[in-house]
Amino acid sequence: MKIEKSERLKSLPPYIFKELDRLKTEEIKKGVDIIDLGVGDPDMPTPAHIIKALETAANDPHNHQYPSYSGMDDFNKAVTGWYKHRFNVDLDPEKEVVTLIGSKEGIAHVPLAFINPGDFALVTSPGYPVYEIGVKFAGGQIYLLDLLKENHFLPDLEIIPDDVLQQTKLMFINYPNNPTSAVADNEFFQKVVNFAEENNIIVCHDAAYTELAFDGYKPLSFMEAGGARDVGIEFHSLSKTYNMTGWRIGFAVGKPEVIQALGQVKSNIDSGVFQAVQVAGIAALSGDQTCVENINAEYEKRRDVLVNGLIELGLSIEKPKATFYTWIEVPDGYTSSEFASHLLLNTGIVATPGNGFGSAGEGYIRMALTVNTERLKEAVDRIRSKGF
Ligand SMILES: *Cc1c(COP(=O)(O)O)cnc(C)c1O
Repeated sequence: MKIEKSERLKSLPPYIFKELDRLKTEEIKKGVDIIDLGVGDPDMPTPAHIIKALETAANDPHNHQYPSYSGMDDFNKAVTGWYKHRFNVDLDPEKEVVTLIGSKEGIAHVPLAFINPGDFALVTSPGYPVYEIGVKFAGGQIYLLDLLKENHFLPDLEIIPDDVLQQTKLMFINYPNNPTSAVADNEFFQKVVNFAEENNIIVCHDAAYTELAFDGYKPLSFMEAGGARDVGIEFHSLSKTYNMTGWRIGFAVGKPEVIQALGQVKSNIDSGVFQAVQVAGIAALSGDQTCVENINAEYEKRRDVLVNGLIELGLSIEKPKATFYTWIEVPDGYTSSEFASHLLLNTGIVATPGNGFGSAGEGYIRMALTVNTERLKEAVDRIRSKGF
């Protein structure tokens, strides 16, 4: 039997970390003590009160059946309560919230609700790869918005050609940003709302990192911008805020027609989030938020160790105000991939080459703050002793 993959799969961009993965496996085999700053997956455990809530809910047979498609009423209410408390935004739990099996799931599925073959979506470069892949799976085309240092890693919406705009249905933005760690102000969000209204484009704002911020800085919700709820939706994740990447729960809020259409796609594909996990999500969103402060305090310490250390060694980095990523300019004489290979082979440190997030990420590497301060000190020491 001959197995042939669909054009859909064949047309995906090549996996550019293959060579780096191969080198990493070789180094591990040789017994090298690897410091892995490559992955954006929290190393700290889920807070105990959230695990407790899951334990109790898992024992309740009510929770063993198919959940409601749009999410449990109580979970959706916890989401709107959290929004009110955190952003002072009023949302209707029945019409303006949908529960997701992690925000990645909703991000990947939303293009299926709006993109016809040939339609355009605006996607940032560098950016979280799922935006582009979701659009391509739906048969859409991508127009890349480069995120450049001179624009504070915000996209320039003025330079998009008119013929592209006329065929554009969706756009994805993400602040605080992965991988650049850049943040957006209300002025930018307001610009996006006006642009979306003028051009009839649905905005999908990925807000996975709004709760992970430092020095007292509180990132904004796109929903705080005037008119945002009439042009788009915002994706949130419990993954990074509460160290819950493995639990698979997130949500989207915003324009009712968009939320409804995303829910319609989902009701034909999945059957929602295990209710016991939703109960744990309620405990996370409605419970004491001291755990979030503690998590941020730890990342802030880590950021200071890594970023101050690397700046002292002469590397160029803007100190992140939010996210657990550092976006580091590669020194002269290296490409992103060459510098990542150099670090791996000479220091045992794994970093992600910036071009893996899109061509405009060339010239950078990303290091995640997902190991403890001791290991980060060790990482800085190793780079100091080997040089670059
Ligand atoms: C981690 C991450 C997500 C995915 O989060 P889940 O809710 O775990 O699916 C979405 N967007 C960005 C930018 C991320 O870094």
